Amino acid sequence: MPNAAITCYCGSCSITLVDGEATCLFQCGCNSCRQKIQFGQANGGRKCSPLPKLVYMPSLIDTVDGQHLMQAFKLRESADSTQVYCTSCWAIIGVDHVGYPENIFMNFPEFCINNGDLSVPLAAYINMADYDDDVGPEPSEDVPLFESIRYKQERERLFRIPETKRTFTSPHDPVQGYTFRSLLAEIGAPTALNLEEGVDVVATVRGWLQERSDSPI
Ligand SMILES: [Zn+2]
Ligand SMILES: [Zn+2]
Repeated sequence: MPNAAITCYCGSCSITLVDGEATCLFQCGCNSCRQKIQFGQANGGRKCSPLPKLVYMPSLIDTVDGQHLMQAFKLRESADSTQVYCTSCWAIIGVDHVGYPENIFMNFPEFCINNGDLSVPLAAYINMADYDDDVGPEPSEDVPLFESIRYKQERERLFRIPETKRTFTSPHDPVQGYTFRSLLAEIGAPTALNLEEGVDVVATVRGWLQERSDSPI
């Protein structure tokens, strides 16, 4: 099993994974992925790309550095996913979702430094209902493309893809050891950003940060 590190841009935060081989790769057109990345961008992180890559990594963690600089956020109180940023450079270390089995977490390899084995081929374009010409160019790879996973037929087709099936099937036995979810529990409750869906996050968040810096506490 190849070991791997996920590091932020400034080098303050990193996690090393026991197994650094990505099990699945998607490109996602959803508003929520863009908002997660744009929140980092608004704080000084890397500029969002139209169809970000999502890699799913085995969740067992060997070592953690710079945990005091890591902070967890949710887009909204009701959001199902939580993302961890380095609060110095605003790289995204990883994302958890209530629906993920405990043996995986998601990572945006373009918005951190992920030196794991990311050679797994693109499995699908997902959540393309939120994507259009205003966001970016047409998807170009000849792989399955999903507008949504709202309907049973779409979910079944998506989970028939071998990489998807293997990634999102819960393990038979509970995961033993320190996982991305264990790290989240130590970092503490995520801050809910209460961002409206579909808004210009970069502009909104700049306003949000301004308000916070103006506040006396
Ligand atoms: Zn950093
Ligand atoms: Zn997404």
